[in-house]
Amino acid sequence: PAGIIETDALVIGAGPVGLFQVFQLGLQDVKTHVVDALPAPGGQCIELYADKPIYDIPAIPVCTGRELVAKLMAQIAPFGASFHLGQIVTTLQKQDDGRFLVETSKSTRFLSKTVFIAAGVGAFQPRTLHVDGLATFEGTQLLHNVPDAAVCANRNVVIFGDGDEALEWALKLCAAHTDGHPHKAKRVTLVHRRDAFSAAPQTVERFRTLVQQGHIHFAPGQAVGIETVNERLTGIQIVDPEGQTRSLPLEMLLVLQGLSPKLGPVAQWGLDMERKQLQVDTEAFSTSVPGIFAVGDINTYPGKKKLILCGFHEATLAAFGAMPIITPEKKVLLQYTTTSPKLHKLLGVD
Ligand code: FAD
Repeated sequence: PAGIIETDALVIGAGPVGLFQVFQLGLQDVKTHVVDALPAPGGQCIELYADKPIYDIPAIPVCTGRELVAKLMAQIAPFGASFHLGQIVTTLQKQDDGRFLVETSKSTRFLSKTVFIAAGVGAFQPRTLHVDGLATFEGTQLLHNVPDAAVCANRNVVIFGDGDEALEWALKLCAAHTDGHPHKAKRVTLVHRRDAFSAAPQTVERFRTLVQQGHIHFAPGQAVGIETVNERLTGIQIVDPEGQTRSLPLEMLLVLQGLSPKLGPVAQWGLDMERKQLQVDTEAFSTSVPGIFAVGDINTYPGKKKLILCGFHEATLAAFGAMPIITPEKKVLLQYTTTSPKLHKLLGVD
């Protein structure tokens, strides 16, 4: 069918385990497509501890989350996987021919012989404000990431958040105030529950100075409602720590409160689960539906430990387990990367 990507293997999740799944499938001469909600590969390693050290990856005494992901990306490079990033896998359905129809939030569609769910603790999605009616403005006046300062040029901007991203945008949009930047905002107000911030100390210090000088406005509080005129968002109502409700007029609303993982769709695919994890056998890490495998933090089995090393092992056995489905006519032999000419060819090290 037109517009559908047909493939042997689809990996859901580009965390460390999804990436190593690509490697193990590559050694079996299987090309993969990979989908992730995040705009870049790496999963928790990039999102939660990019610059912190990891000490328990075999033969790597120490590396940061970011370095591990870079090494994994280098290791899988020979296999030319296709990445479909910034989109969430929403549906997964078995077809009459035994393949799986998979669809993403960006309407990318796949028909795959096998599916490897490496969804970790869920799809990373922006933490939003839970206020009635606000979602309608998503992508127009409400943004969860800022593509370019130009979208705030000469606008009255309200920012929610207390981390680096929120404070840095507040500084950027108002630093423009003082140096005549073409994209300066008309007014910048930052809202956070209380007068304490999780951004880097230097950033917090610069932020506080600009607040004192009146270049940025700080409003402690939590969002409770919106104001609209002719289907345009004109203001947000907040309740301050004293319980007073006040209204902040705005033209652009930036909600920069970081990302949080949501299990979301994975739970709706009809697979056996136990406490939000997919149940698998430990022979091939197959789920309750043959052809769908689950590896890494998303799975559970007796003795499961949520460690990257364990996920690597799971991905290895899942790749072997998938071969009878992908190429039933071929016999799968164990070969060593050290000595196998076939593997050398696949790895491009001939
Ligand atoms: P994740 O890394 O969670 O990746 C899953 C990916 O799937 C995410 O990118 C997510 O966006 C995506 N996804 C999920 N659902 C969907 C969907 N429906 N559509 C599209 N994409 C989706 N482990 C160690 O072994 N050693 C350590 O030292 C260590 N330190 C850690 C420190 C911290 C602070 C934390 C939080 C964890 C640490 N861990 C460590 C645990 C380790 O990070 C996890 O075991 C590992 O990330 C699991 O990898 P994964 O690929 O299974 O899942």
